[in-house]
Amino acid sequence: MLPGTPHLARSSAGTLTLDGLPLADLARRFGTPLYVYSQAAMLDALAAYQRALAGRPHQICYAMKANSNLAVLQTIARAGCGFDIVSGGELARVLAAGGDPSRVVFSGVGKTAAEMAQALRAGVRCFNVESVSELDRLSAVAAAEGAIAPVSLRVNPDVDAGTHPYISTGLRENKFGIAHDQALAAYRHAASLPGLQVVGIDCHIGSQITQVEPYLDALDRLLDLVEAVERDGIAIHHVDVGGGLGIRYVDESPPAADHLVGLLLQRLDARGHGHREVMMEPGRSLVGNAGVLLTEVQYLKPGDAKSFCIVDAAMNDLMRPAMYEAWMAIEPCVSRSTPPQRWDVVGPVCESGDWLGRDRSFAVEPGDVLAVLSAGAYGMAMASNYNTRPRAAEVMIVDGAPVLVREREQAQALFSGEKLLA
Ligand SMILES: *Cc1c(COP(=O)(O)O)cnc(C)c1O
Repeated sequence: MLPGTPHLARSSAGTLTLDGLPLADLARRFGTPLYVYSQAAMLDALAAYQRALAGRPHQICYAMKANSNLAVLQTIARAGCGFDIVSGGELARVLAAGGDPSRVVFSGVGKTAAEMAQALRAGVRCFNVESVSELDRLSAVAAAEGAIAPVSLRVNPDVDAGTHPYISTGLRENKFGIAHDQALAAYRHAASLPGLQVVGIDCHIGSQITQVEPYLDALDRLLDLVEAVERDGIAIHHVDVGGGLGIRYVDESPPAADHLVGLLLQRLDARGHGHREVMMEPGRSLVGNAGVLLTEVQYLKPGDAKSFCIVDAAMNDLMRPAMYEAWMAIEPCVSRSTPPQRWDVVGPVCESGDWLGRDRSFAVEPGDVLAVLSAGAYGMAMASNYNTRPRAAEVMIVDGAPVLVREREQAQALFSGEKLLA
């Protein structure tokens, strides 16, 4: 069974297709390594959130660090979404893709003064502020710009999202957000500063979350604070519950987005906060299952202890296995009828951590194309040029036709900014 999305299928003849297009053909036409995305799969994933939020004041802000290709941003902007950004560079991408800055929230623990000024000039909707010193800096930057910065405080609700330590962000020990017990004082401070206007509250408790309870716990903790802050006479307009909903890589069964949203709205209503604007910042769950990474098998190296299938994609193209020991499904794009063997699928980079999948079973020959599934999020976005490897090309399938949305990098371009000594 293929995890993730109904847009991906295997024909009875053994051909793996995305939106009906044979992936091996795309690999031949555009070369490998190659990211391929289904626009329809992205829009389907977004529609689940939109359905559940319809009829409520709301704003979905796609956490674009998951996949920031301009065509992806354009697709999501045209569907009425805003963006959650974490850098000035991401803001520049939103504008280049035709996104609306008044639907942008600016997150991140380390915003520089220059990034704050850039975002104020662009007219972003809200700064999600993560510390008291950031409040002070933002107020000063806004005053110097002759502007008032709309702020939400990112509160660390101290709930365990039950996910990998590197992608868990809502615990007391994490660097993110303002501790729950210090948040009221931080709101009072924000309200006293001349360059700020308090507009909301937010949290983001982690990534690849597969349970609803952490979200409901975090929402309860936020609403406790909203009530305390408003008793103090500081009005809070929106509640932003962050992103983090998981996807199926193997056999995970995360809640469907509309189910999760339904439960969150119920909880808001039950506590008398049904009138508030709800904001969400999904990243992975909008794009993760919509993409695959195609790679060509270069060599087979059978051995006693391990057999290696050496491919032309590597950790620089897809970091998740090396960085989080993430398990991602790997499928031959055309299945063979010969008996399967066990392989460690590895790349050419000079690191033992350079693997894409371990102990996988399939029949394969050099020249075959493999697909790493569910690679649409935190795939290309985290790619690097380690080993002076040009980054992969990206193709988006739009209305059944493949469109090249990023050219393959050229090696020359990688060192074009470098200087030889005199
Ligand atoms: C990364 C991030 C998100 C999105 O997380 P996903 O797991 O990709 O949904 C949302 N909000 C903030 C502040 C983030 O840093």
